[in-house]
Amino acid sequence: MFESFDAFRAHCGAPMMPVDQCPICSKIPATTSREVEDHSVRDDRPPESLRLETFVEGGAGGELLRCPTCHRLYVSEVIFGAGYFDYYASWERYDDVEALFNVAWCVAQRLPDRRVEYVLPDFFPNHAIVSFKDSDGWSALDRNNRLTAVNDKAALAKLIDSAPPRVTGDLDLAKRYAAFVDWVENPDDRRQDTFQSIVWRQPLSDFEQQRVDEARAASRVEAAVGERVGEHVRVRFWVTSEHRLICRVITVQPDGRYLREDTVTADYLPIAENLPTR
Ligand SMILES: [Zn+2]
Repeated sequence: MFESFDAFRAHCGAPMMPVDQCPICSKIPATTSREVEDHSVRDDRPPESLRLETFVEGGAGGELLRCPTCHRLYVSEVIFGAGYFDYYASWERYDDVEALFNVAWCVAQRLPDRRVEYVLPDFFPNHAIVSFKDSDGWSALDRNNRLTAVNDKAALAKLIDSAPPRVTGDLDLAKRYAAFVDWVENPDDRRQDTFQSIVWRQPLSDFEQQRVDEARAASRVEAAVGERVGEHVRVRFWVTSEHRLICRVITVQPDGRYLREDTVTADYLPIAENLPTR
């Protein structure tokens, strides 16, 4: 059932009644969770949750559950904690089978030979963006589970042309999209949300300290800001790149294409090297 979206949709079917008419699902919130830490348990599921039935088993990491009355689907994902008995489990209801197909647990079932690390499900129609534990960079996963590497500007532009993302309707989504495209284009730049988060070489010479002080005075480093400009969304954030501090603006268009403008506010900075980039 995970071999393609068509197979998945055929297997899942559709809910048989509105959620408020199902005696089970109407009592269950769209998201519930259970957390066990140091033998203390926090569980916000109503008793009706226990009536959901296993629809697809998925090993220790989660499973797909189905309501026996209306056939609505819930994905359960489990994250194990530091302690031997500690875990965090969540249950999320999905009426939209396409959104369900792209949740991390389903993507892991779709790619049984790969170790999925991270899934960005909501940028591109018909594609999830996936990263893996055993390789660098991002890939686009289409409805037939074909992977295409999205590791540079050209590959990203091709994906945007073939599946134009619609992210400008939601400022928060547009901000995350801007972060993603910047990540693909400039994987070595380091995002900075405050001036204090920049890591300097140690020790600093007097001259270097002076460069740092001047940069602090000349910059107002802050977390990403998104604003609507006509049909576009303008996302402004700060990065360090090589030895420069840059205020970067990515303007996202309604068709997902974007424009990047950099303003270098300080250079020749004594930024520590060999740090993880993001
Ligand atoms: Zn139900």
